[in-house]
Amino acid sequence: MRPWEKNIRKVVPYVPGEQPKGDRLIKLNTNENPYPPAPGVEQALRTMDTDAFRKYPDPTASALTEALAEYYQVGKNQVFVGVGSDDVIGMAFLTFFNSDKPILFPDVTYSFYPVWADLFRIPYETPALDEQFRIRKEDYYRENGGVIFPNPNAPTGLDMGLDEIEDILKHNQDVVVIVDEAYVDFGSQSALSLISKYENLLVVQTFSKSRSMAGMRIGYAIGHPDLIRAMNDVKYSYNSYTMNMPSLMLGVEAVKDDAYFKETLGKIMKTREETKGWMKELGFSFPDSKSNFLFASHERVPAVEIFEALKKEQIYVRYFKQPRLENYLRITIGTDAEMAALKQFLESFLSGR
Ligand code: PMP
Repeated sequence: MRPWEKNIRKVVPYVPGEQPKGDRLIKLNTNENPYPPAPGVEQALRTMDTDAFRKYPDPTASALTEALAEYYQVGKNQVFVGVGSDDVIGMAFLTFFNSDKPILFPDVTYSFYPVWADLFRIPYETPALDEQFRIRKEDYYRENGGVIFPNPNAPTGLDMGLDEIEDILKHNQDVVVIVDEAYVDFGSQSALSLISKYENLLVVQTFSKSRSMAGMRIGYAIGHPDLIRAMNDVKYSYNSYTMNMPSLMLGVEAVKDDAYFKETLGKIMKTREETKGWMKELGFSFPDSKSNFLFASHERVPAVEIFEALKKEQIYVRYFKQPRLENYLRITIGTDAEMAALKQFLESFLSGR
């Protein structure tokens, strides 16, 4: 080992889903939205004043913060925006999880949580999901340094009711509780209605899934002004200009078009329910997802074999080679045409097996 190597911060990084290249492929592996962003986004992009790029962007991201505050009917001092919810959650870990006691998150969940915990040297414990892949609220009654879970959870797609979330909050009033609502718009109840009651609750959402803007990298957190202030202090101690000008502008345009937002969500939820129907008939089982993906396992054929066969057909889904998950595929809900192509392939592949 060279002498300087001992000082390197060693981390096992998060592995994002593949971004394969090509025109003919069907991409159902990273939970992107199959529909384009709101029409106003394209319009604003075409007329964007590129001369403005000479200057630094607004460090307070006020236009976007205010648009979100108005949309969710909260104060603008209750909104924090960042470069995707990954940036927002990472910043929240750094800001709020600063105790010697372990933070808690489920054993099967968004695989970035343990990476941030390791990176920031935060101790953590991971209570196991139950046999049906559900979060057991009682596991979060023990002493801890903070709590985070997605609702709906990933990669299971299962959601918790507001009463269960409130129960976890009631048992955890001395630490910050983060609810990661990356997939909440696809039919679950948001915990935003609880932020006025619980000062220690931070709700995180993203433009990546429901607003079709994963490529723009926009995420946000909503909570008590003191939580938001603490996050901004950390942000300004690290990088003042996290959000670039186009993202700020286009994010505002997306928020303006609520009709388009709801229409797109409606289409995805309808396709999801139809997909559940035919997948069951083909012998798949899955938790009853409220997100834009299904976490499915076949009664006969191992997931990895289906995964490989789909990939040969240029149909990409996500496979996690992990205990408990290794016989499941996480399949993003695409357009009706994409799901029809998936169905057609699976029908013929499974009948030959
Ligand atoms: N939380 C969960 C549960 C996710 O699945 C994802 C997507 N990988 C994120 C947060 C982060 O998404 P983004 O950074 O695109 O907002």
